[in-house]
Amino acid sequence: MKHKTQGLTAVIISLLILLSACGENAGSESDAAGTGIKAENTNIVTSFYPMYIFTSNIAKDIPGVKVTNMTEPQTGCLHDYQLNPADMKTLENADILVINGAGMESFMNKVINRLPDIKVVEASKGLELLWDEHEREEDGKTAEAAGSEHEEEGEVNPHIWVSISGAIDEVKNIGRQLEELDPKNAQKYRTNTDEYVKKLETQKQKMHKALDGIKNRDIVTFHEAFPYFAKEFNLNIIAVIEREPGTEPTAGELTDTIDKVRKSGIKALFAEPQYSQKAADTISRETGAKVYVLDPVSTGPKNAAPEAYIKIMDQNLNTLLEALT
Ligand SMILES: [Zn+2]
Repeated sequence: MKHKTQGLTAVIISLLILLSACGENAGSESDAAGTGIKAENTNIVTSFYPMYIFTSNIAKDIPGVKVTNMTEPQTGCLHDYQLNPADMKTLENADILVINGAGMESFMNKVINRLPDIKVVEASKGLELLWDEHEREEDGKTAEAAGSEHEEEGEVNPHIWVSISGAIDEVKNIGRQLEELDPKNAQKYRTNTDEYVKKLETQKQKMHKALDGIKNRDIVTFHEAFPYFAKEFNLNIIAVIEREPGTEPTAGELTDTIDKVRKSGIKALFAEPQYSQKAADTISRETGAKVYVLDPVSTGPKNAAPEAYIKIMDQNLNTLLEALT
């Protein structure tokens, strides 16, 4: 709790710094407000790597449109993220902010509310979301009974982009909203969106073809990043190693996972490149199941972003085939 309070204080302080900075050069900024971006150049800021990948494709080769990722491309999911002064500076120059939504960037809500000039594009807007069943089961409570603390962290699972259908929905969503907010470039956004969606559709079909026939469909994943992916390719997640990413599982949780792996006869554990493999290695030693790496596309090199999603999904496909067949 103390950790959280400190984070909030840091956000408020940064906000105050930002607001005073805004006052100094309010003139030209406020002219750009109103409906649609009227200025010649459009500065789009994305919250984290998958949003950066998608938006880079949608805004590809459009003169005057610049896409900047707010966080370092190696940051990964933003579950425990706290805004820093550099992020605030990036936001200060943004016309449009692209977020995943569904609770991933809830730490930014207060800041976004105080920056009326920023137009927010929400990739998950209107999409059907999955609930974090593991969390609810292990808490032994219903979502309602779990109370406000849970509400704060969000009970829906935000990892929509990890399934290719989810990625396609998010790309279309971002594209449509950019068209509305920046009408002078609408046609280009639309062409780029269609082109990228086609590539994603091709990758999706390729993966279905390779995975639909396999018999062994039980997997253990690292954090709650894969429910959308598992649903799309009809895989069963029988256990999740780290319920809270970045927090090592307790001894009890570890024993529980080891039991589940033994009982199910699972042969493959999937760690993620973004987090320590320690817990997965322990389970592997205890059960003989082998550790593979499955990537939820939440980090990657900046300059590789346009092609990164499809490339990483291709690697994931090869890993799944190696592990499950
Ligand atoms: Zn995550």
